[in-house]
Amino acid sequence: MQCPGCFSNNNNEINTYTSQGYRFRKCRDCEVIFANPMKSGTASWYEKLWWYDLSGASLDYLRWYEKTFLKEDIEWDLKKVLNIGCSRNIFLKELKDKGCDVTAVDINKDIVKFTKNVLGIDKSFVSDVYKLGINEEKSKFDIIIIFQVLEHLEAPGEVFRLLKGFLAYDAKLFLSIPNRDRIYPQKSVWDYPPHHLTRWDKKSIRMFFETHSYRVDKIITAPLLCDDVYYLFNFGFGTRTLERKIRAGSKNIFFPLIYYSLCKLRVAFYKLLAAIGRIFIKEGQDLYVVVNCRKD
Ligand SMILES: [Zn+2]
Repeated sequence: MQCPGCFSNNNNEINTYTSQGYRFRKCRDCEVIFANPMKSGTASWYEKLWWYDLSGASLDYLRWYEKTFLKEDIEWDLKKVLNIGCSRNIFLKELKDKGCDVTAVDINKDIVKFTKNVLGIDKSFVSDVYKLGINEEKSKFDIIIIFQVLEHLEAPGEVFRLLKGFLAYDAKLFLSIPNRDRIYPQKSVWDYPPHHLTRWDKKSIRMFFETHSYRVDKIITAPLLCDDVYYLFNFGFGTRTLERKIRAGSKNIFFPLIYYSLCKLRVAFYKLLAAIGRIFIKEGQDLYVVVNCRKD
């Protein structure tokens, strides 16, 4: 079987992770771990999964890689930005406010509706990443953002070859991917096929982009964060039960207030645990990668 990262045939089966009919292989050259078969979830499967993520409990919450990206030293005004697989993409509103010309695509129609109607991003389209529904001639982008997408792709190499046609001179790509070297990746049920097909570390992601003639400018590992500790312990202070009741249409007027108070308690508790954990654990949940489309 060919490695989906560097295309080498030098790989072997490993038994570190197994999941519902899928096996895992590891490339001996770039060291990426990949699913066998490389078969991802369907669009309807994602609609069910990601709609949950849009429940709106914390609309003002930016993720670590979004905050890292917003701190980049970039002349934002009038930059043409394409966000692929945008998910719960609150940060796009920040980009719009900075004066960027933002285009967003996702396969999930609910996300696109949210992006257009709630975030006010007019150029939001339902589109498959392999067949971007954007006019290539008119659309050369300065910045392409692909957060938490690469690990889902059946043919990652094909996607990054296709994207070259959408890149302006000197354009940059900003990615985030789950970090396979984080603490207890086996505990994360969402990190298995058909949801995630590949598992990356710093070496494999660097080799992936070099194989596809990009230049890697920067790879940063996330510190241990509140969410990582929450995933590990998974104790929600009753917030998940309350959220289910609110979403099922409960009319109890105190529930939202109690819910938001418990959420704050939950965040404060796990932030404290994460701060202590950072003394001992150096590898957090995600990798943040900046790539230049020019190799020289
Ligand atoms: Zn490889």
